[in-house]
Amino acid sequence: MEAQIQQLREEALHAVESAATLQELESVRVKLFGKKGSLSLLRRELAHLPKSERPRYGALLTELQRSLEAALSRRREELRSAELQRRLQAEAVDVTLPGRRRLLGRPHPITQTLQRMLEIFHGLGYEVAEGPEIETEWYNFDALNTPAHHPARDMHDTFYLSDELLLRTHTSPVQARVMEQRKPPIRIVVPGRVYRRDSDISHSPMFHQLEGLLVDRSARFSDLKGTLAAFARQMFGEQTRVRFRPSFFPFTEPSAEVDITCVFCNGEGCRVCKQSGWLEVLGCGSVDPEVFKAVGYDPQEVRGFAFGMGVDRMAMLLFRIDDIRLFFENDMRFLTQF
Ligand SMILES: [Zn+2]
Repeated sequence: MEAQIQQLREEALHAVESAATLQELESVRVKLFGKKGSLSLLRRELAHLPKSERPRYGALLTELQRSLEAALSRRREELRSAELQRRLQAEAVDVTLPGRRRLLGRPHPITQTLQRMLEIFHGLGYEVAEGPEIETEWYNFDALNTPAHHPARDMHDTFYLSDELLLRTHTSPVQARVMEQRKPPIRIVVPGRVYRRDSDISHSPMFHQLEGLLVDRSARFSDLKGTLAAFARQMFGEQTRVRFRPSFFPFTEPSAEVDITCVFCNGEGCRVCKQSGWLEVLGCGSVDPEVFKAVGYDPQEVRGFAFGMGVDRMAMLLFRIDDIRLFFENDMRFLTQF
């Protein structure tokens, strides 16, 4: 019996020390102290011993039980603290690591340019109006004095969606839409995307226009000149001068194209302005009486002027960029420069 107790002590202590996890340790404990555990079995054997020997072996077994319990509880503490160390290490935060940079967005150069243009016209008393990019032939052409087979329709290479519907080739249809709905006085600017079949260094199939329209009883061509000169000075600097050249548009009469002094050479003459000192930037004119008739105005009663310019073209001049396609390639190296 004594040898059995000694053997169990050695085996049990070894099992406790070798338990690598709390779970393993628990199963060691059950094997020792459970109902069918080694210790319980030994205790049962006491019954078969002579009465005189029972107290001695009983005391030995109790002593064995206590020392095993102590060993178990020591090992449990060791395993718990090791587990805690592991978790502390795994969940540690290194506060010296560099932080994650937040990427700041910024408005696209076209948007920046448009915002500046709108601010200038807002200061001149214009409000913003908008219209659909998918237009009917009526608003894009007919209402603007450009009937079918009119040669001016060839000026635009139009994207047709059906016989009736097209992607608007200019923002001018919004003029007709606004005049149909309102009575004069009208003073609006119309920003928006427009579409033409065209693509090269200075043309993109999708580009942006800003249209202006003023209608009241007394608008004169000199008011138009003053308005556009004021715009050019605010947009490109006080030294900027404007020049009006006679031109033709179906929806204005008389019509003019407007040049500003070259922003690259201040009018001295350079490669960009082909040594002329001037850059063409917009088209304009007095509203044609036929356009007033199309929207139900009496041309004897009202007068007005309209102008239209490319926002992308303005951005190219403002930021000194020579290829319009750069704006739409979404190259961050380009876009983050503005
Ligand atoms: Zn120049």
